[in-house]
Amino acid sequence: MEVATSLRARLDDNFEITLIDKKDFFFVGFAKFDLMFGRRAPGDVKSYYSDLKKQGINFVQDTIVQIDPHHNSVKTTRDTFKYDYLVIGLGVELHPEAIPGFTEGGYSFYSFEEAQRLHPVIEKFNSGTILISIFNKPYQCPPAPYEAALQLHDYFEKKGTRADIAIKVLAPGPIPIPISKETSASIMKLLAKHDIEFLPKHKVTELDLIKKQALIDGLAPMDYDLFMGVPIHRPPKVILDSVFGKEGWIKVDRHNLRTEFENVYAIGDVTRIPVGDFAVPKTGAFAEDAGRAVVADLLNRIKGENNEVKFQAAGACYFEMESGKVAKIDANFLGADEPQLSFIEPSEEYVADKIEFEASRIKKWFNPTQQDDKT
Ligand SMILES: Cc1cc2nc3c(=O)[nH]c(=O)nc-3n(C[C@H](O)[C@H](O)[C@H](O)COP(=O)(O)OP(=O)(O)OC[C@H]3O[C@@H](n4cnc5c(N)ncnc54)[C@H](O)[C@@H]3O)c2cc1C
Repeated sequence: MEVATSLRARLDDNFEITLIDKKDFFFVGFAKFDLMFGRRAPGDVKSYYSDLKKQGINFVQDTIVQIDPHHNSVKTTRDTFKYDYLVIGLGVELHPEAIPGFTEGGYSFYSFEEAQRLHPVIEKFNSGTILISIFNKPYQCPPAPYEAALQLHDYFEKKGTRADIAIKVLAPGPIPIPISKETSASIMKLLAKHDIEFLPKHKVTELDLIKKQALIDGLAPMDYDLFMGVPIHRPPKVILDSVFGKEGWIKVDRHNLRTEFENVYAIGDVTRIPVGDFAVPKTGAFAEDAGRAVVADLLNRIKGENNEVKFQAAGACYFEMESGKVAKIDANFLGADEPQLSFIEPSEEYVADKIEFEASRIKKWFNPTQQDDKT
């Protein structure tokens, strides 16, 4: 969205811009929590790509089945598209089936449909153990499972049933956000304060649906009444089948997001950009930041501009947890020698910030000509 709309605003009609997506709508990542808790209806979080037509951007709803950079072409189930420049932003593919029993007996808040499916289950849940498990890395928005646990705490607290519910989070790493001890310490403090058990360095390998137990690497099986998992993430099959998937996630130049093919860029979750022993996390804020760097690089090439925008993996991630309060994680992974992360304690101020974060993107990308109320 960032690339298509920013380029459209800067390029004349000699340039055709086409967005291909198998879905017909956009939504911000954190809206999945609103669906999970029933705070917003699915129709209220969707923005439709068909609206892009007004701006002069073509939208094609179809599944991409082949990307061929040797012939500058993208094949979908119905058509073949030629390009001069290509920006790949296909995200991740979720593999719930990789953990036996999970598809049949577990829930997730990692897709639009799954978050919706979880809502009536949470509504009816009154007592027992909720187990949240991160199966493996990498996964989108590393703080999200902890945010889910804290929001569950708040939800059941308001309902008056929290005392009858145990909430536990299992993670493969030693701390919630391995790249930052400080941010992890803040999150662990919040978990402890809200009586949420954190079990690091453990992976769930299977669900025993008869006994309602999670089988765990190096730990005795753990009983659960409601199991929520962060499904295994893999690059989309169409990427793995292409030259871009040789190493799995797409490898790019960390400053301008070019792939090994000069006229092909890749941004967002589908990439892997190393930062020391870690990698740039998979978040929407960083996908957008990458989009800005691609736009700058493309305008330099197409229009001979001298933009010096480099990808910094910079942005804010909101961490909603208590009613009326939102914490913020400010990050800049590539802009300095060391990754910079700071956890800003929960405050009422960031509730409005978070709403504005979404509203400003929807306005910029879907309604750029809409007048502000004030004007
Ligand atoms: C619970 C949760 C909370 C989150 N909260 C935040 C947050 O607070 N802040 C934040 O910055 N990030 C957050 N995220 C992460 C964020 O949603 C993702 O990192 C972001 O959406 C990545 O953007 P992307 O463009 O790389 O991929 P996506 O947004 O996944 O877009 C990829 C698109 O490609 C399409 N596609 C895939 N394969 C094909 C194909 N073969 N053919 C056609 N189309 C295809 C998909 O339909 C999709 O629309 C959260 C994620 C989760 C799960």
